[in-house]
Amino acid sequence: MSVKDSLLRSLPSVDELTRASALKEAAVVYSHALVTESARLSIDEARGRLLSGETVDTSESALAGFALEKLKTLSSPSIVRVVNATGIVLHTNLGRAVLCSDAVEAVVLSASNPINLEFDLSTGKRDERDLRVSALINRLTGAEDSCVVNNNAAAVLLTLNTLAEGKEVIISRGELIEIGGSFRLPDVIKKSGCVMKEVGTTNRTHPSDYLNAITPQTALLLKAHTSNYTISGFTSEVSLDELVKIGKSSGIPVVEDLGSGTLVDLQEYGLPYEPVVSERLGSGADIVTFSGDKLLGGPQSGIIAGKRHIMEKIRANPLKRALRPDKLTLSALEATLRLYLNKETLAQKLPVLRAMTKPLEEIEANAVIAADMLKKALPKDFIVEVTDSESVVGGGSLPGRNFATKVIKITHKTIRPDAIYMMFLRASPPVVGRVSGNGFLLDLRTVDRPEDVVVKWG
Ligand SMILES: *Cc1c(COP(=O)(O)O)cnc(C)c1O
Repeated sequence: MSVKDSLLRSLPSVDELTRASALKEAAVVYSHALVTESARLSIDEARGRLLSGETVDTSESALAGFALEKLKTLSSPSIVRVVNATGIVLHTNLGRAVLCSDAVEAVVLSASNPINLEFDLSTGKRDERDLRVSALINRLTGAEDSCVVNNNAAAVLLTLNTLAEGKEVIISRGELIEIGGSFRLPDVIKKSGCVMKEVGTTNRTHPSDYLNAITPQTALLLKAHTSNYTISGFTSEVSLDELVKIGKSSGIPVVEDLGSGTLVDLQEYGLPYEPVVSERLGSGADIVTFSGDKLLGGPQSGIIAGKRHIMEKIRANPLKRALRPDKLTLSALEATLRLYLNKETLAQKLPVLRAMTKPLEEIEANAVIAADMLKKALPKDFIVEVTDSESVVGGGSLPGRNFATKVIKITHKTIRPDAIYMMFLRASPPVVGRVSGNGFLLDLRTVDRPEDVVVKWG
């Protein structure tokens, strides 16, 4: 019998391993099923490695130790806090907007108590779940009516399906957007049951293009905000005002997918212009849709706002039931929207706006503090310096508008920047930076406490 065979035979049974002292202790904390599963995983893995010719410590204590590690992995949360040191304020992969503290409190309250979700306290009767939030949206946007769904993709889908199922939707070729995470406007139009009719060219679309495309089958004119790119050079776009004129003259509603949209003019905070929802409705758009977790700074949600007679049809669409948000979302959204009632305190209280308006001196001062701490925490051969860079807003907002920032740049003679990137991901909590050219960068625009990027490797 070969050494390999005898080692394979010497592997304990799952039962035996579960009775090993280390695992017996674990059984006090973890369920029997989990302990058994991790014992099995440990043995299976040892067998697999033996069969592929590796040397494996098959002692009971080694296998039990390995099973304990599995047990920890199985029973610890897989959704964890990370430090966003990318400088990207709305990082979709890291959960987009960080909620304001009022929203966090509202979520805790609604999660732990019954609430008047679909209940009118003045009559004692049931009502619709988004009524309370929609009253606030109407106040902040000047909309006649509004409703809330799970995200802006759902808002666009529901609006198109309600207004144009089986009919034609006209859209400019310059606005056939794709947003990360597989939102492609042509696909959404198709899935809404509508027929897409593209007009114009990538760089130029004229009012006559729309006018010539209108037929008795046309149910709506769609405009989409080019959230993540800009078209420059020899271009011409049909403005919302012009599109509204065309819509009015032909009796066809105009819908605008604003993507991010904002409830306040960001220029008041020294930021670049982004379409303001109330302005777009004021220009005569019949319906606008936008995200709750982009520049608005709330939870993932989609908002549909506009004319009452259209909103009534949207509310009556059975799809709305399938796309409805939960109580946690509605509570967080309401708390976020309430911050907009006081524009003076908005930039301090809303994390998204706070990050976007953070003074360069503050970012630099924090970067210097963190860099000093990192110099002490990292082995001597890492080079840590503070340098100029740019942050982006991300999340399909303010395309082509980068902000000056100061970053901590970490380099090493032999360790490549992408390996340093992985090193920081292995910290607890993981620190997400970015690799740029020859360095690994930490941007403290999106980090409030400098010590958060000073990682400890356990
Ligand atoms: C982001 C975006 C969407 C998708 O919004 P979600 O809230 O992520 O579903 C749709 N349209 C535009 C123009 C966008 O920018």
